[in-house]
Amino acid sequence: MPELMIKLPSDVKEIIGAFEDAGFEAYAVGGCVRDSLLGRAPSDWDVTTSAKPEDTKRIFGRTVDTGIKHGTVTVLRGKRAYEVTTYRIDGEYSDQRHPDKVLFTDDLKEDLRRRDFTINAMAWSDRTGLVDVFGGKEDLERRLIRAVGDPYERFSEDALRILRAVRFSAQLGFEIEEQTQMAAGQLSYTIGAVSAERVRDELMKILLSPRPYYLKKAWELGITAEVLPELDRCMECGQNNPHHIYSVGEHILHSLEHIAPDPALRLTMLFHDMGKPDKKTVDENGVTHNKGHAEVSCDLAGVIMRRLKFDNATVSVVKRLVKWHELRLPETKAAVRRSMNRVGKDVFPLLFPVKLADTLAQSDYMREEKFAHYARIRELYEEILKDGDPVTLKELAVTGEDLIERGVTPGPEMGRILGEMLNEVMDDPSKNEKEYLIGKYAGK
Ligand code: ATP
Ligand code: MG
Repeated sequence: MPELMIKLPSDVKEIIGAFEDAGFEAYAVGGCVRDSLLGRAPSDWDVTTSAKPEDTKRIFGRTVDTGIKHGTVTVLRGKRAYEVTTYRIDGEYSDQRHPDKVLFTDDLKEDLRRRDFTINAMAWSDRTGLVDVFGGKEDLERRLIRAVGDPYERFSEDALRILRAVRFSAQLGFEIEEQTQMAAGQLSYTIGAVSAERVRDELMKILLSPRPYYLKKAWELGITAEVLPELDRCMECGQNNPHHIYSVGEHILHSLEHIAPDPALRLTMLFHDMGKPDKKTVDENGVTHNKGHAEVSCDLAGVIMRRLKFDNATVSVVKRLVKWHELRLPETKAAVRRSMNRVGKDVFPLLFPVKLADTLAQSDYMREEKFAHYARIRELYEEILKDGDPVTLKELAVTGEDLIERGVTPGPEMGRILGEMLNEVMDDPSKNEKEYLIGKYAGK
C-alpha cells in the first residue's frame, strides 16, 4: 500500500476544521477511510465527532436531524450532505433495527469499538492521521473481513452484521476471517429477526457487487435458509439435461455474473428459475425437465419481493422478465410485434440481456444456435422500432374518441374493436389507416 495519506474532499476538511476550531475532535470514519486506503472512490464521507448533536447544529446552521436519537445530524454543504455522528457506545439491538439505547462518549476508541468490522473501524483526520485501533489496515492488506472484538458477541448484538460480512466480501473480493466466519455460521439462524428492509438493502449490495456469485457464501453460512429459503431449494435441485451443467441454484448464481449490475436485471436472474424445483419431472431416460417453471418463478418472485418490501415498479418489471424469460418466437416481425405488445414495450428489450445471461450459465450445447436466434429476433425488434410499427393501442391510428364519434359506447365492445384493429396492424403495419380500420371494424 502506498505511503499513508488520505485526501479529504474540501467539504470534509472544512467540517472537521470547524469542529476542531470549536474545541472538538472530528474524523472521517468508516467506509470512506476503508475505500480511500484501497484506492477506491468512497460513495459518501461520514464524520464522527466528540461534539454532541446540539453542538453540531449550532456550529453548522444548515443541518437536518437525520437520526438525532442516535446522534446523527446531516450537515448540508451546497448540494452535498454529510452524516455527522457523535462518538457513541451502542446498547443491544433487540429490535434488530436500532440499538436500544446509545450512550455518547468522549473517546473515539469507544466509537470505533462499536463498528462491525476492523476495515470499517478506522478514522482519519489531517491533524492526527490514521486512527486504527483494531488492525484494520493490516486486514485490508490481508484482504480479510474480521469482526471488531468477539465475533459471536458482535453478531449476537446485531444479526445483520452476518449478512454484511458476506456483502463486504462480495464487494471487495475479501475472505471472511475464520473465527468471524465460524460465528457467522453458528448465528445465522438468528437473522430472521432482522427487519426485511435491512436484509433487502444488504442483499441488493451483494447482487449489485462485482461478485454476485458470492451470494453462495450466504447459502453456505445458512443465511439464505432464513431470508431466502427458495434459493436453498434450488441449490438442492439437480439438473440432468443436455442444456445444463449445474444444479438449478448454481446455474442461478452463475447467471448473475453474466448480466449488468442493474437492480431489475440482477433480481430477474436471481428469480428466473426459482420455480424449477416445483416443476421438476424426470423422463424415462432420466432426463430432468421443468415445464411451466417460468410462471411459478414469476409467482415466487412476487412473493419474495413483497416479503422483502421491494417497490412496486421493480416488482412489476422483474415479474414480467421472469415470466417471459423462456420466450421462444418464430423469427417474424409479426411475432416480435405481438410479443412486444404482450410483454410490454418497455420491458421487452430487457429480455435480450436476460436470455444471454441465462444461456451463458448453461452448457454450450446448441449455444451458437441460441445466440444466432436471439440476434435475429433483435434485428427484427430494431427494425420494428426504426419503422415505428404499431404494437400498442396508443400507436393505433384509431382512438377511442374516433369510435365514440361513430356511436360506439365506451366499454367492452370498444375494447374488442380496438383489439381487433391492433391485431390486424401488428400483422401488417400498412393497415394502420384510420379510414380503412374504421370502415372494416366500426362501419355501420
Ligand atoms: P458503503 O460504502 O456501502 O456505504 P459503509 O462501510 O459506509 O459502506 P454503511 O452501511 O454506510 O457502510 O455504514 C457506515 C459505517 O457504520 C460502517 O463502515 C461501519 O463502521 C458502521 N456500521 C454500519 N452498520 C453497522 C452495523 N450494523 N454494526 C456495526 N457497525 C455498523
Ligand atoms: Mg456508507
